[in-house]
Amino acid sequence: MTTVTRVADLPHPTDRSIGFVPTMGALHQGHLDLMRRAREENDLVVVSIFVNPTQFGKNEDFGRYPRDLERDSALAESVGVDVIFAPSVEEIYPRTPTIVHVPEVTELWEGAARPGHFDGVATVVAKLFNMVRPDRAYFGQKDLQQCQVVRRMVADLNFPLELKIISTTREPDGLAMSSRNIYLSEEERAVAPSLHAELTRCAGVFGTTSPSRTEVDGELHRSIDTLQSKGFVVDYFACVALPDLRPIEQIGEQNAMIVAARLGRTRLIDNVIF
Ligand code: AMP
Repeated sequence: MTTVTRVADLPHPTDRSIGFVPTMGALHQGHLDLMRRAREENDLVVVSIFVNPTQFGKNEDFGRYPRDLERDSALAESVGVDVIFAPSVEEIYPRTPTIVHVPEVTELWEGAARPGHFDGVATVVAKLFNMVRPDRAYFGQKDLQQCQVVRRMVADLNFPLELKIISTTREPDGLAMSSRNIYLSEEERAVAPSLHAELTRCAGVFGTTSPSRTEVDGELHRSIDTLQSKGFVVDYFACVALPDLRPIEQIGEQNAMIVAARLGRTRLIDNVIF
């Protein structure tokens, strides 16, 4: 495995396919599952580790986001990654960047809660795609809206690559793995699995009955009450239609339950597709 910090040093073999996994580091099994899939499906696997400042809001955790390149490199190597791309902020943003703005799918949910977040994501992903030039790029369903934003950008800007969305890797108690889980206190960690429990409860009810609008709203409120009683501050807990993540008028072909909630200083997101 080699580690590259300069764009100019990235390999571009003409006769070998490239699988690419963009990350911000602080790697866990969820990231490693993306890398394993990339390893199975490509000749060369490139992983970027870059804590992207443009996708963090002013009062978010950019400064305290966990960084440990040595540990991350060992984990990536253990699943057969060929190249780690770990650029500096200056390497990616040598001057004020041209911004990629994806419309519509960025408006609600994370887009509303974190103004500018998806401009930062779309901009860095577009730049990384042009730097790495992958045949396939791997993203986690854990960040469902991000997947839909990247999908829309790839289609609208004609990126010549295939997107692969990989299902969410969870702890045994259902909590979605996240680099931010390490911020949780023992007490917060103990209640955190309720997020997934309430998502699956609602998905179970909505997926097996034909609930009226009033019944849907009733179940959503029941879950929100449960989460609040356990100490969560709920940003949103909603039933949406894919691919646009619009709030549902009625249960349709492909729906998802989505949630963002804060426990103390930690903001967690999760989703279940049904
Ligand atoms: P991050 O470093 O948090 O930006 O995540 C890098 C990639 O890993 C993104 O495509 C995430 O959606 C994905 N990812 C994060 N957590 C998980 C998880 N628990 N299961 C699967 N993929 C994940």
